[in-house]
Amino acid sequence: MRQRYNALSVLWGGLTGQKHWKQVWGRPEPKPHYDVIIIGGGGHGLATAYYLASEHKIRNVAVLEKGWLGGGNAGRNTTIVRSNYMVPGNTEFYEHSLKLWENLSHELNYNVMFSQRAHVNLVFTPSQRDAMARRYNLMRLNGIDGEYWDQDELRRHAPHLNYENGRFPILGAYVQPRAGTARHDAVNWGFARAATALGVDIIQGCEVTGFIHKAGAVVGVETSKGEILADKIGMAVAGHTSVLAHKAGLGKLPIETHKLQAYVSEPLKPIVDQVIVFGGIGHFYISQSDKGGLVFGGDLDKYNSYAQKGNLPVYENVMAACMQILPCVGRVKLLRQWAGVMDMSMDGSPFITKTDIPGLYLNAGWCYGGFKATPGSGHCFAHTIARDAPHEANAGLTLNRYREGRQIDETGHGPVPKLH
Ligand SMILES: Cc1cc2nc3c(=O)[nH]c(=O)nc-3n(C[C@H](O)[C@H](O)[C@H](O)COP(=O)(O)OP(=O)(O)OC[C@H]3O[C@@H](n4cnc5c(N)ncnc54)[C@H](O)[C@@H]3O)c2cc1C
Repeated sequence: MRQRYNALSVLWGGLTGQKHWKQVWGRPEPKPHYDVIIIGGGGHGLATAYYLASEHKIRNVAVLEKGWLGGGNAGRNTTIVRSNYMVPGNTEFYEHSLKLWENLSHELNYNVMFSQRAHVNLVFTPSQRDAMARRYNLMRLNGIDGEYWDQDELRRHAPHLNYENGRFPILGAYVQPRAGTARHDAVNWGFARAATALGVDIIQGCEVTGFIHKAGAVVGVETSKGEILADKIGMAVAGHTSVLAHKAGLGKLPIETHKLQAYVSEPLKPIVDQVIVFGGIGHFYISQSDKGGLVFGGDLDKYNSYAQKGNLPVYENVMAACMQILPCVGRVKLLRQWAGVMDMSMDGSPFITKTDIPGLYLNAGWCYGGFKATPGSGHCFAHTIARDAPHEANAGLTLNRYREGRQIDETGHGPVPKLH
């Protein structure tokens, strides 16, 4: 039974020495058989397990994680949550996910610190403004919030930007007010706690090393803790998808692994109130965490790698972009920098789908935008696994679309994963 978190229990804990808190997930040993195994204890895997248990009442579920919860991209990202997509397939999926975010803290009884502080996409040229007008008008036609702030309005909301001396003058911004940020660790822990309370086994330090096949179907996994059988197996391993898919016999997937860096500064008083994005001419995005650190990032390192650290040329580009739009932070100290491994797909869009191998389901291709998808991805993946059919929000996110030539190419960059 899950211990409810509320203001009274915090108050009670304050008066009684904080001794009433219970452990929220343990260290279970794997059972010989589960109804469903989810490989990958990132946000997507944990959310899938939670929705399998809560919505589909499938509770004999294990999440197998080779490291620790949130040690992958789920704990390494810049936490931007938005749904400003315009291409069918993405539009309905990301808006579905944003709606789940809006009630997630209540649903999980865990404060995921979802802060709808607005996502502000700066524009620098008339042609960029026109191109983005198309996107934001399409969003509005699809019932997604979006608006344009001219320079005067932008100055009121974001007074510290470089309006006077930039090489590229800021004309205004396209804004999604319902977008924002969340606390990544809290999202992982919230899903893990809620799934555990419903009977899910979360098994950390358990690497999947191979698959057990029977009559053409996948019926179990080989792991560092021995063989575990399951009726259905879902993969949500982000940048490690190609390696594991190859072991499962799925062949070559339309996916490449790239790395993306993130940076955090020393804490400051509030200076960046929204998520600010400098796209089109450069690539840079920044927000400020509740602790005051500036959290920011830019482009991929642009070569395939599994190393969770980045290289200096991108570091330099990101800092240069920061100086373009926010020179007032030039003397702020950087505290930390790291990278995560991204599952970049050929059209820049994900897949949540059954595979050609009976019993095996795939959730991947999130590129560097999968954090915002966490609840939507888990919700739709659980639906796909439980019912053997997609939810209406992920009906377009199949692997078949590559065979059929129906790419969901949001940026129009074609089949070059590192450009999406
Ligand atoms: C620097 C950076 C910034 C980002 N910024 C944003 C952002 O602002 N907004 C946004 O929406 N997205 C962002 N992303 C992308 C987002 O983080 C990912 O798309 C998303 O987290 C991927 O899903 P996940 O959380 O399940 O992946 P992960 O957390 O990577 O989970 C996969 C898990 O699978 C485990 N695993 C792998 N192989 C095995 C195996 N053989 N056996 C068992 N377990 C295995 C891994 O250890 C890992 O924990 C960013 C990513 C990075 C790296």
